[in-house]
Amino acid sequence: MSWEDKVRRVVPYVPGEQPKQKGIIKLNTNENPYPPAPEVERLLREIDYSALRLYPDTDAGELTKELAAYYGLKPSQIFVGVGSDDVLSMAFLTFFNSEKPILFPDITYSFYDVWADLYRIPYKLCPLDDSFRINPDDYKQENGGIIFPNPNAPTGVLESVDMVEEILRANPEVVVIVDEAYIDFGGESCLPLLSRYENLLVVQTFSKSRSMAGMRIGFAMGNEKLIQCLNDVKFSFNSYTMNLPAQVLGAQAVRDKVYFAETCGKIIKTREWVKEELKKLGFDFPDSKANFIFAAHRHMSGGVIFEALRERGIYVRHWDKPRIGNYLRITIGTKEEMERLLEALAEIVAE
Ligand code: PMP
Repeated sequence: MSWEDKVRRVVPYVPGEQPKQKGIIKLNTNENPYPPAPEVERLLREIDYSALRLYPDTDAGELTKELAAYYGLKPSQIFVGVGSDDVLSMAFLTFFNSEKPILFPDITYSFYDVWADLYRIPYKLCPLDDSFRINPDDYKQENGGIIFPNPNAPTGVLESVDMVEEILRANPEVVVIVDEAYIDFGGESCLPLLSRYENLLVVQTFSKSRSMAGMRIGFAMGNEKLIQCLNDVKFSFNSYTMNLPAQVLGAQAVRDKVYFAETCGKIIKTREWVKEELKKLGFDFPDSKANFIFAAHRHMSGGVIFEALRERGIYVRHWDKPRIGNYLRITIGTKEEMERLLEALAEIVAE
């Protein structure tokens, strides 16, 4: 017997690579190619550095208040965390506490099964159809909770608010989490359903549409009782999750509505153009409403294209997994970055 028998063994989530060398065109982790709002930069320089001596506000009051005002909710309906990964992990721990399996799609954010394993939550995968669509009937079986991203990742496919509501209507006895990490790139949020479904939790992030992946801010919105439950677990885990700069700068990013709309608009425009160009090069993909496109070439394998791009200093994401091994998930960068990508792809597929 040794200490090794008592270890909690898990197979960790594998994040996309963060290259150390300069000059890489990085289209592998769905970051925003544009900097955070200009007012965020000004505030960053003005942060009272002597205040870092103190513990930060445990409730992240300013940030919560700003988010509540923006989304037309009460501050008591908002929970913030260190990126939406932290928020989602807390939500798994808080709400998925049943003997029955939680349900999520077979092709989805690859952190869900990792948290389920970590917290010993049983789960069942619901297969997407051949067009990578969710079948709402799959979510009408007995379960201990439901989670899916909308738009889904890595497919980029957006489901309608009506479909989300159909799933909610069939599941009044469990918490349904909708992970809206990519909702700001042209999707319709299911936030309006909050007033009618007290078991709905909507999770969003500052990492994509608000250009602040490095700051690590995510948030959940839901009814006050749900948020209170999340807070009880959070305060049993770590009271000071949100550091002071994240709280101050996050609040400022929410205030800057014009910049937010502009950058999302630019990414959507670039995405729509890239879709046309990828088609011309022989790629197929489900229509994406996210800041990435999940594309497969008609004749060349995903793995081969992935390596050829990498050799040219262009990083995209590829999973050697059933059903999606031929696909590449390509983040939408600046127009210039996407021009470079398309030139490289044209060369590669001509070989
Ligand atoms: N949900 C989905 C669907 C994602 O793709 C990501 C990004 N990896 C996250 C949540 C987590 O993002 P973050 O922790 O940066 O908010």
